[in-house]
Amino acid sequence: MTTTDRAIAAYLGLAIGDALGATVEFMTPREIAAQYGIHDTLCGGGWLHLKPGKVTDDTTMSLALGRSILAQGKVDALAVAQAFDAWMRAKPVDIGNTVRRNLMQFRKTGSPTASYSDHDAGNGAAMRILPIALVTIGQAEETVRAACRAQAHITHNSVLSDAACECLVFMVQDALRGADKNHLLHQHVHPLVAKHPEFKFRDISQSNNPSGYVVDTLHAVFQSFFDTDGFSDCLIDVVNRGGDADTTGAIAGMLAGAVYGRQVIPEEWVKTLDTDIRRLCEAQACALMQLANEPPK
Ligand code: MN
Ligand code: MN
Repeated sequence: MTTTDRAIAAYLGLAIGDALGATVEFMTPREIAAQYGIHDTLCGGGWLHLKPGKVTDDTTMSLALGRSILAQGKVDALAVAQAFDAWMRAKPVDIGNTVRRNLMQFRKTGSPTASYSDHDAGNGAAMRILPIALVTIGQAEETVRAACRAQAHITHNSVLSDAACECLVFMVQDALRGADKNHLLHQHVHPLVAKHPEFKFRDISQSNNPSGYVVDTLHAVFQSFFDTDGFSDCLIDVVNRGGDADTTGAIAGMLAGAVYGRQVIPEEWVKTLDTDIRRLCEAQACALMQLANEPPK
C-alpha cells in the first residue's frame, strides 16, 4: 500500500465518518439504540435532515483548507482565513459557534489569528487538520507544528486544541508511512497524555455522548480507535456513542483510513458517499501528496 493510497483512505474515512455520524449527532447512545439498533448506514437524516451520503462542516472545512493550500502552494494563514470566510458565506449546512464567532472577528480585524482563549478548546480546528498532515509530511517537526497552529488559530487559539491538532497530525503522518496503532499510541498519544493529563482515555469510564470539547471528543475517538480492530468496527463504535458523532466519526475515520487503508473501506459506504465529495477527497489527497513531495517554494 502506498502513502498516497493511505492518504486517499484517510480523506474518504473523514468524509464517511462525518456522513455516518451526522445522522446521530446530538443523540444519546440510548436514543440511537431505540431508533436504529446499531447505526451503521449512510442513511442521512439527523437534526440537519441530510440526504443519504451528505457530509457536514467537518469535511467541507477540510476541503476548503486543502483547496487554499493547493492554490497557494503552501499553508498561508491569511489565504486560509479568506477561504474559511468564503466557505461561511456559502451557507454551509452546519457551523460551530467558535468557528462562526472568530470568522466574524476575522472579517472585522483582517487578522487570521483569533485571540487566545482557554474557552476555545472545541474540536473545530482538530476536525479539519487532514490537509496539513498530508502537505507537511516529511518536514521538520517545528514546521509541521507551525502549520498546524497557523490553520487552527484562525478560529481556535487554545493550548488544548493545539495539543490535539498536533498529536492527530503526527499520528496521521506516521500512519501514512505504515506505522501500526501501537506505534501511534506510544509515540504520540502517551506523550500527549503525559503533557496534558486531561486526554487520558484509558481507566476512565466509557466516553458516551462526547461533547464538542476537544478533550471529550478525543476520549471517544481514542477509545474506539484503539479498542477495535478494523475500519468499519471503529467507525460504528464511535458514532454509536452519539454526542458530537459527525466529528468523532470524521476524526476516527481519518485515523482508521490512514492505518487500515483503502481496501477495507466498505464499498457500500464509498458508493453512498456524495459523489462530488468523494471525487474532491480523492483528488485533494493526491494533489496534496504531490505538493508535499515538491521542493518548497
Ligand atoms: Mn459537522
Ligand atoms: Mn459535529
